[in-house]
Amino acid sequence: MFPNDLQTIYPEATKFLTNAVLKNRLANSYVFIGKDSNDLLKITKTLAKILNCSRDLPRQVSTAPCEKCTNCKWIERDEHPQALITVSPAPESKKEQIKIDKIRELLNTLNTTSEYFRVIYFQASGLQSLPPDSCNLLLKTVEETPGRTIFIFANQSRNDILGTILSRSQTLYVSKKSASILELIKTNITNLSDYDFTECFPKNLLDSLEKSRKTHELLEKSETDIKDYLTNLGTANYDLLKYKDQKQYCFLYKRLTGSYLKLKSFIQPKIVIEDFFLSLLNKPTSF
Ligand SMILES: [Zn+2]
Repeated sequence: MFPNDLQTIYPEATKFLTNAVLKNRLANSYVFIGKDSNDLLKITKTLAKILNCSRDLPRQVSTAPCEKCTNCKWIERDEHPQALITVSPAPESKKEQIKIDKIRELLNTLNTTSEYFRVIYFQASGLQSLPPDSCNLLLKTVEETPGRTIFIFANQSRNDILGTILSRSQTLYVSKKSASILELIKTNITNLSDYDFTECFPKNLLDSLEKSRKTHELLEKSETDIKDYLTNLGTANYDLLKYKDQKQYCFLYKRLTGSYLKLKSFIQPKIVIEDFFLSLLNKPTSF
C-alpha cells in the first residue's frame, strides 16, 4: 500500500499501518514519533490517500492509492479540504503555537458530517506548539472521534507531548531501519563497548539505573532499534552463560523476551529498558 521508498526506510511503521487498514483496526488517534517531519507527513498523506482514493469504486482497500484521482491529487498537494486537515502553528505566531481559535475552528468542522475519511494531522505536537489549554479543548473529541476520523499527532520525541494526548493515542515509532548495533559499534557511531554486552547484569540499583540511562541515550542518539540491542545482548552472552551458567542464561532470556513483548505493545522504550535492567537485579545465584 505504501510506496517502495517509504517501505524500505520504515518497514515496521508502514507494515503496522497496512495491517491496521486491512484488518479495519485503525485507532482513533495516533502519536507518530520520528525525526524526519517530511517523512511523517508523507506517511500521513499516503494513509489519507489509501482511505480516500476513489479509483474503481467500490475499491479494494488492499491496493495502493492510484495517485490519479481527484482525492489522491488534492491530498498530495495538501489541498483537500476534508480528507487531510493539517494543523500547524500560524507562521506569524511568535511562540510557534497552534492558536486556540484554530482548534475551535477544527472542532466545528468535525461536527459536520463528511463523505470523506478525515485524517487530522498535527504537524508539531510538543508542548510548545500544543499547550495544555489547546490539548484540553481537543481531548473529548480525540477520545470520542466522530466516525471515519483519525487524529495523528506528530513529534520528534514522545517526552514533551501532554500525557492526556498520549494516553488516548497509540504511539507509533516511525524510526528508520538501521544497521545492527554491532555494525554501528564497528563504525563507531554508537559508543557501546563489548563490556556493555557481556556484563549485562547490573550490580546494584544505582548501577542498573545508570546502565539503562546510558543505553537509552545512546540508542536514541543513533536512532537505533532497541530490539536490535536486546538481540545483541542475548547473542553476546550466549556462549558466556549458556555453557557455564544455564540458570542465568534462562533468566536473561526470559527478561529479554519480556522486553520484546513490551516494545511490541508500544510501551515507551525508555521504560522498557529501565524495567529490563531493574529486573536483572534479581538474577539467580550461580550453580
Ligand atoms: Zn486515487
